[in-house]
Amino acid sequence: MYLTGNPVSYVINTHWHSDHTSGNQLFTPKAQIISTSITREIMAVFGKNRVTQQLSNPEPIYQAIEDFEVKIQQETNEKLKKEIQWENASDREYMKTLPNLIYSLPTITFDQQMSIHGSERTVQLITYGGGHTQSDAFVYIPEEKTAVMGDLVLSKHHPVMINANPQEWLTILERVELLGLETIIPGHGEICSMKELHEVKGYINDILTLVTESVQSKKSIDDILVPKAYQDWYFTTYFKTNLKNIYDLITKSAD
Ligand SMILES: [Zn+2]
Repeated sequence: MYLTGNPVSYVINTHWHSDHTSGNQLFTPKAQIISTSITREIMAVFGKNRVTQQLSNPEPIYQAIEDFEVKIQQETNEKLKKEIQWENASDREYMKTLPNLIYSLPTITFDQQMSIHGSERTVQLITYGGGHTQSDAFVYIPEEKTAVMGDLVLSKHHPVMINANPQEWLTILERVELLGLETIIPGHGEICSMKELHEVKGYINDILTLVTESVQSKKSIDDILVPKAYQDWYFTTYFKTNLKNIYDLITKSAD
């Protein structure tokens, strides 16, 4: 049930990723769904297509789930084993809900900033562009010195860089620093503070350095190990994909 006891009037999609948008149908048509216009565009074209494809051809996903089962059996590291199990369980749940998924698009969009004035307080929806995805928004509550950051800030989880623009991501976080936040509600993990925002900046810089050094010394990025500082973070499987994505970005821009 909802915190206030009132029905939800507005749902904010901070970005298009399915773990942040697949629940929209639970709130429509009573609530308005709000996103940036770029996020809505990506959902309307790419997101919707992907769901249609997954529905018409679910075999590759089931195959991936089966492959993961084998991986779980073979994994000797308990933390990794738990993480893969969790990921696998969430993929299975997703496949169960897929036939009933009504892909619900945002009904209100904005391009830079908009405000919602409630009876108690005002919230600002802000985008400084795209860093984690092509377009990332966050919800800022000035009176509370609090922001709901979507996946721009994760707490004790590897940031997900599959669709990332690392330089833009750093620039966005630098602008967020100027807001004087005390409390951050991250996209994944526990409620946190500016410390975790700084950790994400450090992580992005570290990944950029690790990959650049590896390219310069003509070594394989497969040999890069998770730095000690991030070994107890979750989403470990994203470390490899993050390296690969940054590698592609760096080598592509060198062409
Ligand atoms: Zn995301």
